[in-house]
Amino acid sequence: MNRVAVFPGSFDPITNGHVDIVQRAVGLFDKIIIAVGQNAQKKYMFSRKERMKYIHMAFEGVDEIEVAQFEGLTVEFCRSVGAQYILRGLRNPADFEFEKAIAQSNRMMNNRLETVFLLTDPEFSAIGSSIVRDIFRNGGDVSMFVPVTIG
Ligand code: ADP
Repeated sequence: MNRVAVFPGSFDPITNGHVDIVQRAVGLFDKIIIAVGQNAQKKYMFSRKERMKYIHMAFEGVDEIEVAQFEGLTVEFCRSVGAQYILRGLRNPADFEFEKAIAQSNRMMNNRLETVFLLTDPEFSAIGSSIVRDIFRNGGDVSMFVPVTIG
C-alpha cells in the first residue's frame, strides 16, 4: 500500500525543527505532502508564495516530498490527495495538549485517518516559527534556526 502523509502547518517560516520532523518521517511513508495552510483568521509574516518557496528550497531533490497549499479542513485536504496519515511534531506539553484535541477531533471526522506524532529532537525543541519571526522583525540573525536564507 502507498503510505501518504500530510504534514499540515503554517510554516511561517519553515524552521530546522520542521525539517528534522520531515527528514525523520521520510523513511516511514512513501510520500509526504507538506501542506501550507491559509487561514483567513491568521496574519502571516511571509506570503504563502514565500512560505512555499522556502519549503521547496529546503527539500530540493527529495523525491518523496511534495509541497501543496490548502484551505479549510485538514481532513478534507487529506481525502482529496488520498492521504491516510497526518504528520505533526511535538515539542512540549503545550504542543501535546493542543495536538491531542486536534487529532481526536480529526479522527471523529474521519476514523481511517491516523495522526502520527514525532517528538522533536532536543536540539530543536526551543525553535518555533513565532520566535524566528520576532528575531527577524527585529533585525536579528535567524540563519541558525532556518534551513534556507529568508527575507
Ligand atoms: P501550525 O500553525 O499548524 O501550528 P506550524 O508551522 O507552527 O503550524 O507547525 C506545524 C507542525 O510542526 C506542528 O505539529 C508543530 O508542533 C510542529 N513543529 C513546529 N516547530 C517544531 C520543532 N521545533 N520541532 C518539532 N516540531 C515542530
